Amino acid sequence: MYRTNTNGELRLADVGRDVTLAGWVQRTRRMGGMTFLDLRDRYGITQVVFDNSTDPALTEAANHLGREFVVQVKGKVAERSAKNANLPTGDIEIIASELKVLNPSEVPPFTIEDDTDGGDDIRMKYRYLDIRRGAVRRNLELRHKMALEVRRYLDAQGFLEIETPMLVGSTPEGARDFVVPSRMNQGQFYALPQSPQTLKQLLMVAGIDRYFQIVKCFRDEDLRADRQPEFTQIDCEMSFIEQDDIINTFEGMAKHLFKEIRGIELTEPFLRMTWADAMRLYGSDKPDMRFGMTFVELDDVLKGSGFSVFDNAAYIGGINAKGAAHYTRKQLDALTEFVKRPQIGAKGLVYARVGEDGTVKSSVDKFYSQETLQALRKKMDAEPGDLILIMSGDDAMRTRKQLCELRLEMGSQLGLRDKNKFACLWVVDFPMFEWSDEEQRLMAMHHPFTHPKDEDIPMLDTDPAAVRADAYDMVINGVEVGGGSIRIHDSALQAKMFEILGFTPEKAQEQFGFLMNAFKFGAPPHGGLAYGLDRWVSLFAGLDSIRDCIAFPKNNSGRDVMLDAPAALDQKQLDELSLAIVEENK
Ligand code: ASP
Repeated sequence: MYRTNTNGELRLADVGRDVTLAGWVQRTRRMGGMTFLDLRDRYGITQVVFDNSTDPALTEAANHLGREFVVQVKGKVAERSAKNANLPTGDIEIIASELKVLNPSEVPPFTIEDDTDGGDDIRMKYRYLDIRRGAVRRNLELRHKMALEVRRYLDAQGFLEIETPMLVGSTPEGARDFVVPSRMNQGQFYALPQSPQTLKQLLMVAGIDRYFQIVKCFRDEDLRADRQPEFTQIDCEMSFIEQDDIINTFEGMAKHLFKEIRGIELTEPFLRMTWADAMRLYGSDKPDMRFGMTFVELDDVLKGSGFSVFDNAAYIGGINAKGAAHYTRKQLDALTEFVKRPQIGAKGLVYARVGEDGTVKSSVDKFYSQETLQALRKKMDAEPGDLILIMSGDDAMRTRKQLCELRLEMGSQLGLRDKNKFACLWVVDFPMFEWSDEEQRLMAMHHPFTHPKDEDIPMLDTDPAAVRADAYDMVINGVEVGGGSIRIHDSALQAKMFEILGFTPEKAQEQFGFLMNAFKFGAPPHGGLAYGLDRWVSLFAGLDSIRDCIAFPKNNSGRDVMLDAPAALDQKQLDELSLAIVEENK
C-alpha cells in the first residue's frame, strides 16, 4: 500500500503516530524556514510541514513540488498550533521525514478548488481534473448514495433489477433515435433505447411482477440544462396494480430518498393535482409549488371597458406578487422586456400597484375607473403593498404558459424559490393526446402504451382529443422528476390506439407486432413509472444543471469535448458497414 491513512481522517487522537500519506499537491507555501504542503485526496486535505532547520534537503525537495504532483509523504502526526477550523483535519499536521514524488504534473489549466477559475468549456475538456474538485466529487458521491438507496428500497419491496438490451429496434412515436449500423446485417440499424418501455412491459407479460433497472436512455433531442443525449432512469414496472398502488409505492420511494439523502422526513401525502388544474392555475404541467401566486382569470372584470387589447383577448390572467408594489418603473419595464423575449413571446404586460391607502394605480388607468380597479383588487385578493401583473392573449394555453414564465421569474426575484425547501406534487389525469402542428395529427402525450381513463374510452371514437389518460408525473420544485402510466394490456385497445395515432394496421404490426402479439398470451394489468436519476441528484445537490452530477457529460451541442466525440469514421470502418457519407449540398 502506498499509504497508511487518507488525507481526511487524521484527528487530534492520532498525534504521535507515524503515518504515510499519498495524494495530490493542492499547494505549497513557504513561511520563515518552513514549507507547508496541502496534500489532497478524495477524502480531504492534510497539512504537511517541512522544517528547513531540521532537514534542509527534504525542505528543498518540497519547495520544488508543483500543483497536482502526486506525492507520498512519511511523517509524524503533531498537534497544530494555528488550528484551521474549516478543515476536519485542521487540528493536526504531519511533520515530514520523507517525501517521494510518485508522478509530476503539468500545471493544470484551472485551479482545483470549489471556486475554480476555469470556465465551463475548459473544465469539460479536462473533466478528470474537474472531478478532483470537491464540488464535483461530492455530486458523484451523492449520486452513488442515491442509486444505493434506490436499490435498497426497491429490493425490500420485492423488485427485481433486470437488464434490458442497449441495441434494440427503432420505434417511432417519441424523440429521435440514436442509431447504430449493423455490420452483420448490412444496411440495417439498431437503435439505442429511448427507454426500456416495451421491454419492461414484456417482462410483465413474462410474469416478473416487480421490475426495476437503473438504466441509460438515449434521445436525440435539442439539449437544455436538464437534458443530456444520454441520461439515467430509475425505470420501474409493476403488475396487478392500479394507479394508486404505483403512486403509493413510488411516493414511498421518494420519501425514503428524502430521509436517507437529505435527512428530511416527509410525513404528509404528496399533493395531487389534475393536469387541467395545473394548467389553469399555474400554466404548467410541472408547477413550482414552493410558492402560491396562482393565476386568476380576469375576463369578467377587465373586458368591456374599451381597452381593445383585453376586449379582444381569448384569455386575461393575473398574478398577485405580494408585497411587490415598491417595484420601480425601471423594474416593471424590465419585467415587460422579460416577457417579450423571443423565448417567451408575449406582447406586453399590464401592472397595477395597490397603494398603502388601498387605491389601485395601473398602467392602463385611462381605460378603467377606480371602481373597476377595486373590483380587480378584490378578485386578486390584493392588499396594500401588493403588485398585480396581468397578461392577455388570443390563445389561452399559450398565454398561460407565458404567464407561467412571469410567475417563476417573480418567484425568483422575491426569493420564494429556496433550494432547500421542497414542494412535492403528483400531476394526474394528463390528456391522452396532443395535437402536433408539425405532423398534423394527434400524438401520444405520454406514449402510445398508456391506458385511457376507463370513463373516457367511449370518447376515443367521438372526441379523442378530450380523452384523459391514466398518466401521472411527480413534480418537485417545478422539475418533473418522474412520470409513468397504467398501460394498455389488451391487444384490441392497443391496436385502436395505433389507429388514432395514424398507423395503418400493417405499419402498427410491423413496428409493434411483438408487443401486440405478446398481449395475446395473457398480459396482466400493469403500469409503471420512470424517475430521472440525474434530475433527482441535481435537485438534492441544489445544482442548476444535470451536467454537474454526471461524470462525463456532453456539452450543449451534444459533444464530448474531452473524447472529441462524435467524430468521423475511418474509410475501412465505413466499408465494413457498407456506409457512404454523402456531402450535403450547401
Ligand atoms: N418509459 C417512460 C418514459 O421514459 C416512463 C414510463 O411510462 O414508465 O418517460
